[in-house]
Amino acid sequence: MFSIGDIVIGGAKPVVIAGPCAIESREQYFAVAQEVQRRGIRILRGGAYKPRTSPHAFQGLGEEGLTLIQEVRLATGLLIITEVMDTETLEKVGAVCDIIQIGARNMSNFSLLKKVGKFGKPVMLKRGYMATIDEFVLAAEYLVKEGNHQVILCERGIRTFETRTRNTLDISAVPLLKMLTPHPVFVDPSHSTGRGDLVIPMTRAALAAGADGVMVEVHPNPRKALCDGLQSLDFPTFNLLMNEVESLIPYLTREGKL
Ligand code: PEP
Ligand code: MN
Repeated sequence: MFSIGDIVIGGAKPVVIAGPCAIESREQYFAVAQEVQRRGIRILRGGAYKPRTSPHAFQGLGEEGLTLIQEVRLATGLLIITEVMDTETLEKVGAVCDIIQIGARNMSNFSLLKKVGKFGKPVMLKRGYMATIDEFVLAAEYLVKEGNHQVILCERGIRTFETRTRNTLDISAVPLLKMLTPHPVFVDPSHSTGRGDLVIPMTRAALAAGADGVMVEVHPNPRKALCDGLQSLDFPTFNLLMNEVESLIPYLTREGKL
């Protein structure tokens, strides 16, 4: 458990992080920021540098995205989580965000882990889609070894033979990681399923399994999204998700917590 400002991560109340997959424009980013803030969200996601499978796909706005992060952060007071993809951009990405995200594809990038471990900001480390629990735990230890104890682990699905979902959400990772590490554990129901229609049920499952929070993708118009539209929630569905989370909170009797 640790705090970022007055937000407790890994405490009694689960935390929802929401926002677009990628920052696409000022209009899109502000629209999502305002909508999620209206529902009490305190931490906004949004990628400026995007790790895309295809080099032909939208790669993120890069520095322009970082400028928009600064604008939104200042205008709304929201805390920002955004992904750092390499050691070259760590300084400038780290300067504008409150939580540094290390993506699934970089979980085993040990030189990046060491540098981020030294950087001194909270980190969300996402599980590699081919990584075992033990490999994930050891990757987190790279951050801790450099002196960074403010580490959030995020289960984001692993690759299996199943094709109905983009990945397979390994729900047992949640209690296992809590047994094996002292770190708060989040679930990403968006990337683990690749389907907006599974985000609410998988959020329920994550919280029931003891997750300290979830991170979900929200877009004003998912069909027009430049990245991950199929798994992004539109505003009405995001509001349903928040209703569900709020109604579940009294039942989350996490040992020693509520
Ligand atoms: C993301 O959360 O923006 C992302 C790219 O997810 P992952 O690294 O889990 O694929
Ligand atoms: Mn995404």
